[in-house]
Amino acid sequence: MTSTSSAANQPAKPARRLPRLNDPSGSDLPVPVPMPIRTGHCACGRISYRVNGIPDDPHLCSCERDTRVSGGPAVLWVGFPKDSLTWTNSGEEPKWWNPYPDLRCGFCPDCGSQLVSEAEGSDMVMVTGFSLSHQDRTEPVGHSYREKAAPWMDVALAPAPIPVPDLNLGLDLD
Ligand SMILES: [Zn+2]
Ligand SMILES: [Zn+2]
Repeated sequence: MTSTSSAANQPAKPARRLPRLNDPSGSDLPVPVPMPIRTGHCACGRISYRVNGIPDDPHLCSCERDTRVSGGPAVLWVGFPKDSLTWTNSGEEPKWWNPYPDLRCGFCPDCGSQLVSEAEGSDMVMVTGFSLSHQDRTEPVGHSYREKAAPWMDVALAPAPIPVPDLNLGLDLD
């Protein structure tokens, strides 16, 4: 006997095939649509991540927090499903801080790059658009706290939101 585990001593269960619809070849099974994978990282490369899905609500924000943190007049935020976020450099997470009790923001402890922002209870994570390796389809459709932006800052917003299932969801057009 060469069996080394109790599982190997169990009688083999007959393989149960899941019922397939209509076509015995299974060729009509829904084919999962691969979501575009995006990668991003901080300026020094210590913290890196991956997200996937269609960019949601890409928008600029000129609130005081974002202008202070970035040292610039606005930050581009882009939403992705929170469960698609993976920290890819050995799983190392950014350092977190809480500007508000229900919001946490992640940044690199070495170079200070602001990377993500997560609101409690939301199924989205916002990533900073320019920590992404590619910015395609992240043109901002809105500009939060625009009135606080530098008066010399002239922004041409994207004319229409990037197609999402419900155009009324999550768009901050202020
Ligand atoms: Zn860094
Ligand atoms: Zn902001």
